[in-house]
Amino acid sequence: MAMSPDTSIKNTPPPSLIAKVRVSVPISMPNTQNAKSEFDYVVGSTLKLERGCVVEVSFANRIIWGVVYECNYETEIEHSKLKPILSVSNASPINNATLEFLNQVSEWTMAPFGQILRMMLCVPNALKSDVPVMCYGLSSPAQFNVEQLSASRQKIIAWCQHNPPVPANILVSETGVSYSTVLAMVKAGQLKKIEASPRQNRDIKTTLSSLTSAIRSASTLNLSPEQIHAAQKINETENGFSVALLDGVTGSGKTEVYFELVKKQILQGRQCLILLPEIVLATSWVNRFKKWFGFMPNIWHSGISAGKKKRIWREINDGHPGVVVGARSALFLPFSNLGAIIVDEEHEAGYKQEEQVIYHARDMAILRAKHADCSIVLATATPSLESWINVRKGRYQHIILANRYGVATMPDIQTIDLRKFKPAFGKWISEPLLSDMQHRLKSDQQILLYLNRRGYAPLAVCSECGVKQSCHQCDSLLVTHRLSNQLRCHQCGIARPFQNRCQSCWQTNSIQLVGPGVERLAEEVYQLFPEASVTILSSDTLTNPAQMALTIKSIEEGEVDIIIGTQMVAKGHHFPKLTCVAVIDGDLGLSGGDLRASERTYQLLTQVAGRSGREKQTGTVFIQTAEPTHPVLQALKSQNRDAYFELEMEMRRSADMPPYKRLAAIIYSSLNELALADYVKTLASHKPQFEDVQIFGPASAPIYQIKGRYRVRFLINAPKQVNIQKIIKSWNASITMPSTIRRQIDIDPYNFM
Ligand SMILES: [Zn+2]
Ligand SMILES: [Zn+2]
Repeated sequence: MAMSPDTSIKNTPPPSLIAKVRVSVPISMPNTQNAKSEFDYVVGSTLKLERGCVVEVSFANRIIWGVVYECNYETEIEHSKLKPILSVSNASPINNATLEFLNQVSEWTMAPFGQILRMMLCVPNALKSDVPVMCYGLSSPAQFNVEQLSASRQKIIAWCQHNPPVPANILVSETGVSYSTVLAMVKAGQLKKIEASPRQNRDIKTTLSSLTSAIRSASTLNLSPEQIHAAQKINETENGFSVALLDGVTGSGKTEVYFELVKKQILQGRQCLILLPEIVLATSWVNRFKKWFGFMPNIWHSGISAGKKKRIWREINDGHPGVVVGARSALFLPFSNLGAIIVDEEHEAGYKQEEQVIYHARDMAILRAKHADCSIVLATATPSLESWINVRKGRYQHIILANRYGVATMPDIQTIDLRKFKPAFGKWISEPLLSDMQHRLKSDQQILLYLNRRGYAPLAVCSECGVKQSCHQCDSLLVTHRLSNQLRCHQCGIARPFQNRCQSCWQTNSIQLVGPGVERLAEEVYQLFPEASVTILSSDTLTNPAQMALTIKSIEEGEVDIIIGTQMVAKGHHFPKLTCVAVIDGDLGLSGGDLRASERTYQLLTQVAGRSGREKQTGTVFIQTAEPTHPVLQALKSQNRDAYFELEMEMRRSADMPPYKRLAAIIYSSLNELALADYVKTLASHKPQFEDVQIFGPASAPIYQIKGRYRVRFLINAPKQVNIQKIIKSWNASITMPSTIRRQIDIDPYNFM
């Protein structure tokens, strides 16, 4: 049949459906109008789309993932110029609360929306549709006699009776029977091949009933009356958004209290997110979880396998109940049925992400809870001042655990005045500490020596010319590591072999090592106690979770006499035989130039002290210091935390600093020092003028050069009700930034280097 031209159809083509898609590509703000990374695409007539659908589109000659934010027939761009949507993922559409959360994170951090979106769409194989693969399942059992088969064949048949068809490799690994047996069984007609999707999705009901029965069969543990009371108080809060600060001394059993909340939510079929500052090291925490719940939580961090990531991402997005425990990045999973969020050790500086998107995971978790309309619990023994002020103003519920769990009592805290008891040159253990250690080792008690300095010595100085050995691409001193025989820059990570030759005057054997690191302290301990078993806990000696778990176990079982550790030992662990903690340099951190130096020292020392005497014996904490009258140490000694907080809060108030005011830091960096100086000079002459808002700078950053880039910063101080982002945005948009310069915006900065 010949085609006849039909002019009436040509003149009025059916309107195409247009989707507004946000693409997972960072398009930087504020030099662009399109801060949302949003573009129009044409929807083919066969595609079914709704808000939240994950789609594949072509963008700048690449095929990338994006999310549909809106669908309609109107667009300002001519339809013929638009590209089509290439495919739709069979993942469930992302829910509204998550989409809105991503939006708010982008607005708060001022990071491009596409960069935030990429954090959620970081699991490509969860987005791709599943390709059917060859699976193996049971043929009709009536066709053969099971009892006459070999033991291994019977094993396969028994397994297949209770499971859906799976690929051969899974069948082999589940039953332990060889691949050739599987093939032989197909030939004999006992198994059949089926082409199927490998993702045999459990339905939500099945997930819930398996979690429920695991909880029911898990051993019940006894809570103290105080814990029961705290758990009741948390669980009393109505469903909906609320923030509680679970404030308990170390060893008071906060974990078990929030476990009760998590349990309640799981039994109601909901999802829970638990954030831990260092998930990779959380082996003992995970064991406690398993004991309490009878199932394993979904552990989320960058190191887990792609297959696991896919399963967790999909189940979370589909609304399956369950518990995700993870580091910061777990916040960006597409939770669709969130019942509670826990931020454990909420005061930890590790929650602040300092690279790419700069955000504080605790603050973003509160935002997440708000959008999901669920409760959030911040747990800690030493609240951050930010949370403390919110408790004082009645914005957060305050739940206190004042007693240590079980029989343990609070440790006795003593300072050792290093001006009176000065150790010999090049030694770090004072006389009073030494005699106490001798006594304890005789009665089979464990000792922890705490020194927050990695490596052997923090300073390598030339005795000929006096030059301190430093990194060639950063303003940073090189740290000597004896175990690896290297000089390392802790700023950029670069390492070079230690050759005892000065980098400046080239004199050999002239390098003197100054100050202690954990390796050097260990050397002293080996000399003093040659019989003792000593272990070093630091990120240089323990590089993977398995090794960490093994070491922790040997400490728990009492195989180690003396533990030497950096801040890595400060939290979480429960060492029953540990009765003495000695802080080798109690002054480290007290005099640091940054805003939170004192607060952070207090938190760290409290955590370390909390390691001591967690069982029947009372623990002792020694703090070696040249400044025993410092308010932080006095507060620790008298165990009057709230008095210390009041003191610190008053200092912040009088200095106009957070948590009373809000800070924002903007760092501009470039390899080209002149271009940078030029640009910041122009910016400075266009500083916006507002009452109450101060803009300091430009000033060279304390570490002026990192990895070769020069760094200059502005610091903004504003009242909390001021929209600081808006000020930064309009100021920066007014002057085009050269492409050789990078800008990093840090709202509520923690790092002032
Ligand atoms: Zn460096
Ligand atoms: Zn020299």
